[in-house]
Amino acid sequence: MRKKLIAANWKMYKTPEQAREFVAAFLPQVWEHTRDEMVLCPPFVTLPAVASALDGSRVQLGGQDMFWEKEGAFTGAISAHMLRAAGCSHVIIGHSERRQYFGETDDTVNRKLRAALHGGLIPIVCVGEVIAEREAGLTEDVLRRQCSIAFREISSGQAIPIVVAYEPVWAIGTGKTATPELAGEAHRVIRAEAAEAFGEGVAGKIRILYGGSVKPDNVKSLMAHPDIDGALVGGASLDPKSFAAIVKY
Ligand code: PEP
Repeated sequence: MRKKLIAANWKMYKTPEQAREFVAAFLPQVWEHTRDEMVLCPPFVTLPAVASALDGSRVQLGGQDMFWEKEGAFTGAISAHMLRAAGCSHVIIGHSERRQYFGETDDTVNRKLRAALHGGLIPIVCVGEVIAEREAGLTEDVLRRQCSIAFREISSGQAIPIVVAYEPVWAIGTGKTATPELAGEAHRVIRAEAAEAFGEGVAGKIRILYGGSVKPDNVKSLMAHPDIDGALVGGASLDPKSFAAIVKY
């Protein structure tokens, strides 16, 4: 059984003070919740405030991106080592907004993924097709390409912590959600690619999350699908009541 993981991607929202208010309202609602793993991914400058607010709870902390070098003259960048020092256990890699606005490529995703694993972080690697690719019947090809490049030069032994988030780009922030069946199909493609790279045993352990307009009113049917191992939530994770309702679907 793969334990489900529900992760909040706050994107470029919330100052440290707003984040502390969120955590103060959120934690009492999920204090007893043990069924799923929970992770909050705030902006970098908000990490210390969230780390101290979460102290002693089951909720874990993640970064939204990282660079592959440990340290050096890389202005504006943050390393796996720094995320760990700030209290992170997880990191999102290759989010479609990083690919769209910040030049992230399949190759940079691979470099970051290897560095995250090497640095002891649990990577949440995002893959997904844009609407034109889906309409052209290219979804499977796109997912296979993104995964096979992301998984390069990673051994089966190293791969176990990897989490993949299937995030169809047309569903992110649009209110359009993939049906559980459509997401399940994509998840099977991703798991097949993981099996090719790491073997069936490891692929069976890798968690594949769904992301794209997950809300309190659609989460239950998505999570009921046997191939969906959790959710990466953007907009609906910004409000403590809404994110707690998602976690406790
Ligand atoms: C995301 O940012 O990863 C995401 C899925 O956003 P939203 O839930 O707002 O679609």
